[in-house]
Amino acid sequence: MRKIVIAGNWKMYKTQAEAMEFLQGFMPHLNDVADDREVVLCVPFTALVSLSQSLHGSLIRLGAQNVHWETSGAYTGEVAAPMLTEIGVRYVIVGHSERRQYFGETDETVNLRLKAAQAAGLTPILCVGETKQQRDIGETESVIFSQLENGLTGIDQTNLVVAYEPIWAIGTGDTCESSEANRVIGLIRAQLTNPDVPIQYGGSVKPDNVDEILQQPEIDGALVGGASLQPDSFARIVNFSG
Ligand code: PGA
Repeated sequence: MRKIVIAGNWKMYKTQAEAMEFLQGFMPHLNDVADDREVVLCVPFTALVSLSQSLHGSLIRLGAQNVHWETSGAYTGEVAAPMLTEIGVRYVIVGHSERRQYFGETDETVNLRLKAAQAAGLTPILCVGETKQQRDIGETESVIFSQLENGLTGIDQTNLVVAYEPIWAIGTGDTCESSEANRVIGLIRAQLTNPDVPIQYGGSVKPDNVDEILQQPEIDGALVGGASLQPDSFARIVNFSG
């Protein structure tokens, strides 16, 4: 049985105070969450410490949105994996398309970050996905396969989540057809050495499309941006009926 992982990616949203306000609205809905699913909140670095304290003993797991590959050093502006585990962080997003697009993330640095995350005991969520243009010229598979091959070189696949995030579906309201997401995720699974790695879909997941997406047999969860910012909509998503 593959694990179902529903992760909220808050991106650069929410101050500490706003994060605490979110929890107040969200926590009451957690009683209903089926125990076959893991709920993760990937929040800005500044909100991690106070959320970690508030979430202690709860079902929600805490995630970061990036991690450096060295354990310490002269890397201004970066955060190392042991700094995250020390405060109770369990997951970290690696290689999100926004990091690849705006911050020069490459498959090579993705690979280094994955290794560092796993060495510290974090579970990385590796994001892969194609642009609209790559899809239109028939390169979806080749782009994703090369992201996987280069990103996963030397990586232990027992402690890993992969997220298929077509870039054209992120933050656009333009969701990938659930059958197409299912097809691509099946192809991704065939590239992995461990068939039990949970593979999420990400890109405009909302309360009104989550059931259909997560009913697809290959899709083991979701990486949710915009709709994870409101307690009610994220509660509806984690309580999807599948
Ligand atoms: P979205 O973002 O749900 O707002 O499309 C998903 C993501 O970037 O992980």
